[in-house]
Amino acid sequence: MIISVASGKGGTGKTTVAVNLALSLDENQSVQFLDCDVEEPNAHFFLKPQIHKSQPVFLPVPEIIEEKCTYCGKCAEVCAYNAIAVLKDNVLVFPELCHGCGGCSLLCPEKAINEKGQKIGKIEFGASNDIQFIHGKLDIGQAMSPPLIREVKRHINSTKTVIIDAPPGTSCPVVESVKGSDFSLLVTEPTPFGLNDLHLAAETLKKLEIPCGVVINRSDIGDSQVEEYCLEQSIPVLMTIPMDRNIAVAYSKGESIIATQPDYREKFQELFRKILAIKK
Ligand code: SF4
Ligand code: SF4
Repeated sequence: MIISVASGKGGTGKTTVAVNLALSLDENQSVQFLDCDVEEPNAHFFLKPQIHKSQPVFLPVPEIIEEKCTYCGKCAEVCAYNAIAVLKDNVLVFPELCHGCGGCSLLCPEKAINEKGQKIGKIEFGASNDIQFIHGKLDIGQAMSPPLIREVKRHINSTKTVIIDAPPGTSCPVVESVKGSDFSLLVTEPTPFGLNDLHLAAETLKKLEIPCGVVINRSDIGDSQVEEYCLEQSIPVLMTIPMDRNIAVAYSKGESIIATQPDYREKFQELFRKILAIKK
């Protein structure tokens, strides 16, 4: 089963929920944790995995063979990302816009395009006790996180319970991270900002046809609008985590909640049971 943990905005406690859910699953669950928040992966601070392998990830970007090019413009026409511009006697490639889809080289009638690998980041593999851990790290200055996220997800082991820590927001990297999930947990807080971003995230999941439930973090601040929205939309609120100074202190030290408050292990196990019951 693949469970992605997402949030419409940053700072809601998404990684905290993903990490503690993974750590709480009992020995009967073989767990794989994927940190797909490749621009700012931070689950490793809490899971403290032993990294045993690292591999670079390259994006195939086009390289024009000028002697063969007739400047027909087909490559620019086919590129949905405006990563190629064809002038009268020149072809400009913008690698920072290229998604590495290969469409231009496939459709070039003159076979005038080679692909060259451009390094965009790396994937690291490790283990945190019994949890298999994988995360992607986008190189500084690189904008193209979806191909790196795809590469991280290529290592999903579907015989395990897979927890995906998705990036915050609702843009392409989030869609890339959550698509294919059996269930998505949306972490939010009971504030007008939390409600607005939850609404956007829930709509995104609806379009992707991924069932979801909500975790309300810092549940005793703010108002009841998030709960009312969930009720209206028939989105189950599966867990609430009150504002707690001890949780904030543990976070600042890179410690999980269950390491400092063991009673939360049962609460996160209950969250997992609720997800299983919904999926039945
Ligand atoms: S499709 Fe091929 S031949 Fe046409 S402009 Fe692009 S690179 Fe040149
Ligand atoms: S590989 Fe795809 S995204 Fe990149 S330039 Fe070619 S068509 Fe555009």
